[in-house]
Amino acid sequence: MISKNNEAYQTSHHPDDIFMVAANQLLQDNIADFEEKISSPNTQIGLEFLINQLNEHIKKSIEERAFAYKKIFASTMPSLVHVLRQLPSFQEKEIKDISLRFSRLENESDILSFARIYGLLGVLDWGWNNYSHTNFETLNTWHTYIAHIKRLLKLYKALKEKKQGKEVEVIGEFFSLEEETVYMVGKGLIKRTKISWTEKYCIKEMENLLLDGVNNIPHPAPDLPREIEESLAYDGLIGSYVLALLIKNGLDDAVKISFSEVFHSDLSPIGFSFNETYSSRYLLGAIYQDLWRLINTDVPIRYCNYCNRPFEGKGKKKHCNESCRQMAYKERKRIRSTILR
Ligand SMILES: [Zn+2]
Repeated sequence: MISKNNEAYQTSHHPDDIFMVAANQLLQDNIADFEEKISSPNTQIGLEFLINQLNEHIKKSIEERAFAYKKIFASTMPSLVHVLRQLPSFQEKEIKDISLRFSRLENESDILSFARIYGLLGVLDWGWNNYSHTNFETLNTWHTYIAHIKRLLKLYKALKEKKQGKEVEVIGEFFSLEEETVYMVGKGLIKRTKISWTEKYCIKEMENLLLDGVNNIPHPAPDLPREIEESLAYDGLIGSYVLALLIKNGLDDAVKISFSEVFHSDLSPIGFSFNETYSSRYLLGAIYQDLWRLINTDVPIRYCNYCNRPFEGKGKKKHCNESCRQMAYKERKRIRSTILR
């Protein structure tokens, strides 16, 4: 019935309205400097809107997290802000390969350029995949999700290699299995296997700034109704399950499924067919969506021989781009000349 997929990400930011600031620059006492830096006729209104939204978010968050959030604003933590200085213009962005591009971001300036094109991630700085319209996000949050998407790509690659018969460890490397005994009504005590995702928090705790409760990596933690020895034999299956579950978590609440048209089709049992569309108003949701597409269409992932960042593998390509290819060439030449000397 479904004839083809359309995927879209909808944003409404202006590239010039996204800035990198130290979080404490947004405090009432310091805001004058930031205001001067971004000055334009509409700055005042834009800033007021930003501050109001931040206060709303703090109010919405539960007590201890609000406390952590307030601490962020007392710190110099680098953060992205979106100051609405001009009327938002609605844009639909192409999302193909966005998950790979996102996973390749490394430093502050990479992240700022990416955010100027696509806007902010659309997640709050606490909880996990906590979708919301945001105009403030710490760089820690960005690094956390970049690391997470990178890890999901790595797991996908490992599972593919495993299927091709290569010796690849997924237990231990990506998740751990633990045996637990639980009581079940009618069955008594039974042994089950608990899966824990082994990713660590990306939050870099700053001096005097405890950020517990911000950016908790989710535990997929499904329990398997079998004992651990038996579970060990199914590591590929468990890996695939965990991968699908984590992406599904990211798609929940972010991606809307709809259809752009309905038309007659003799092939369909009900006589009609739909053009299905998927859209997200949250950048992170669009990233998960692209990752899902990439896995379902069996896109080969390779890691650059020079910078070790993931890219879509085509032909014999060993490097992610021309600059890495040249750098690798220079390095080989340098090593050769050192050996000859
Ligand atoms: Zn590279």
